[in-house]
Amino acid sequence: MQFHHHGYVSGDPRVQPAAGVGVDRPAELPDEMDVLIVGSGPAGMLLAAQLSQYPDVVTRIIERRDGRLVLGQADGIQPRSVETFQAFGFAERIIAEAYNIGYMNFWGPDPADRSRIVRTSRTEDYGYKISEFPHLIVNQARVLDYFAEAAAHGPGRIAPDYGIEFVGLTVHEAGSEGATSGYPVEVRVRYTAGERAGEERTVRAKYVAGCDGARSGVRDAIGRKHLGGFSAHAWGVMDVVVNTDFPDWRTKCAINSEAGNILHIPREGGYLSRMYIDLGAVAEDDDHEVRKTPIEAIIAKANDILHPYTLDVRDVAWFSVYEVGHRVTDHFDDRSSDEADAAPRVFLTGDACHTHSAKAGQGMNVSMQDGFNLGWKLGSVVSGLAPESLLSTYSAERQPVAQQLIDFDREWSSLMARKPEEISDPQELATFYLGTAEFPSGFMTQYGPSMITGDASHQSLATGFPIGKRFKSSQVSFVCDGNVVHLGHHAKADGRWRVYAFADAPAAGEASALTDWAEWLSTSPDSPLARFTPEGADADAVFDVKAIYQQPHDQLDLTLAPEVFRPKTGPLGLTDWEKVFAAGPSYWCRTDIFEERGISRDGAVVVVRPDGYVAHVLPLTAPAELAEFFAGQMLARR
Ligand SMILES: Cc1cc2nc3c(=O)[nH]c(=O)nc-3n(C[C@H](O)[C@H](O)[C@H](O)COP(=O)(O)OP(=O)(O)OC[C@H]3O[C@@H](n4cnc5c(N)ncnc54)[C@H](O)[C@@H]3O)c2cc1C
Repeated sequence: MQFHHHGYVSGDPRVQPAAGVGVDRPAELPDEMDVLIVGSGPAGMLLAAQLSQYPDVVTRIIERRDGRLVLGQADGIQPRSVETFQAFGFAERIIAEAYNIGYMNFWGPDPADRSRIVRTSRTEDYGYKISEFPHLIVNQARVLDYFAEAAAHGPGRIAPDYGIEFVGLTVHEAGSEGATSGYPVEVRVRYTAGERAGEERTVRAKYVAGCDGARSGVRDAIGRKHLGGFSAHAWGVMDVVVNTDFPDWRTKCAINSEAGNILHIPREGGYLSRMYIDLGAVAEDDDHEVRKTPIEAIIAKANDILHPYTLDVRDVAWFSVYEVGHRVTDHFDDRSSDEADAAPRVFLTGDACHTHSAKAGQGMNVSMQDGFNLGWKLGSVVSGLAPESLLSTYSAERQPVAQQLIDFDREWSSLMARKPEEISDPQELATFYLGTAEFPSGFMTQYGPSMITGDASHQSLATGFPIGKRFKSSQVSFVCDGNVVHLGHHAKADGRWRVYAFADAPAAGEASALTDWAEWLSTSPDSPLARFTPEGADADAVFDVKAIYQQPHDQLDLTLAPEVFRPKTGPLGLTDWEKVFAAGPSYWCRTDIFEERGISRDGAVVVVRPDGYVAHVLPLTAPAELAEFFAGQMLARR
């Protein structure tokens, strides 16, 4: 963590100085704002935390509830989400309070007596192998608390406006009278709490993000269709503390018995557990009556499935009954493809545009990635760094991800609901669980070529950083002090682009491609630094450029590195010592990032988006291609 560069900081360095609209933020919802977020669930709160890093953007987030969420539904946090928490600065703290899923065990009928269950396999959870970040269980309410803290501690100082609900909106088309104010989205809201409860008012925004969950009013207001339906299968879900003789009570388990199925997930704190209990097929004429199943019936069913083990439920923290539904919205913004010229004004994220069963633990995770995808795009456009056309990439990138999620969840939930006689191989569920790990972990998303994702013509220079996938970190050492660090963990969710320059290794007396590239970057009028960094801003305000050398740190002299990797920033003009890295292996750093990520020994440039996805891989010798890439998606400096 870097601080003191604006002068000595005596308090918590995680609290960034307020700036721009974060200074004297008005308590009252203003009449006009740049971005209005509707809903403070995981998608909306991540979006708010991201936009707090853009202090020249007026962002407000309205929430129907009168205060913080007390009891959330979601609890399964996938490794990509923990990686995202790291970028927002709270991964370590949330890991400490969460339950870490280390193993998943599988149970089935005992062949000798099919009325009893026995353990059929133990598997290490996929979280261990796929990432340096774990697979966690922690209440959604705590996730929201951490994002609320990040939003409040960012320079924009954003806090939810609780007790205000969205009622409806009208988008005034460009050129119409209503659009001339510069805030073309007219939004009707109503106070739901406090002295003004019941009062309606109209506010205006440049952009609206509908993060208002499965029954989204924003979705209805823009006429989008939520397509799909419910399957005729019901599940009970309960968060309980119990006394039991079931030996795997503190291990995640899929239990398949003659009496039905359970997905059992231990939760944070050492006592609480969540159980998804199969309530079986629902009659066609049931008309959702199954949702009235009492908790006593769900507990009795759980005991039947677990036989010969028993559950003595001592407290029920929460329970619900649901039928599995799979729905995805036809488009995630208010523009259709035949209006390609017009930029979208209203966006849908999270459950507002994709809903599915809870058991794969995906909804909150994918919703947060929707927010991450949209946040930097809105921030860049409103603050004048990027053209409005950037906003069309949101729906284009996230709609296919939602469709893949629905397809995956359909397969997982139907596997989970099978009867024992339908299972020929007892290892099948375990094989599916581990074999598909990259998808549920959140690492399979790969964005296709677009204005912000380059083509794969130079992919061979860095095969371990697939273009369109998230940047997978690896260990390196700081040259300044030899400390071993994770390169990717230095990429904070601060809205900046990362440009990693992996050095070539010229023989003594030969020219260095890295040095030539760095010279171009710092002096050429075509350099993205010169073209797109706002006048008067720090040299690394938009592009955080880092160098990674092939030699061990003790064979390098940081003061000889090109100056673009040692910019002088902040009001005191201090040299940044933490942008120059050395590859291992060394005593502490066991891996060589060049080997581990398939990086050419002739060097490579890896460009990473503000949301952590690899945007391009280029040779050090082709700076014009780098210039062209950014010219296609950014606006020249103001
Ligand atoms: C039983 C269960 C278990 C689950 N387990 C998991 C899990 O383990 N892992 C996982 O990833 N996902 C899980 N999910 C799914 C997860 O809860 C959702 O996918 C996630 O909460 C969606 O986030 P969101 O921000 O899109 O919407 P939500 O969390 O629904 O938030 C929407 C917010 O908008 C507010 N709102 C709604 N309408 C208005 C309005 N008109 N005006 C103002 N505010 C409004 C709501 O009050 C709410 O705060 C589970 C879901 C269920 C039901």
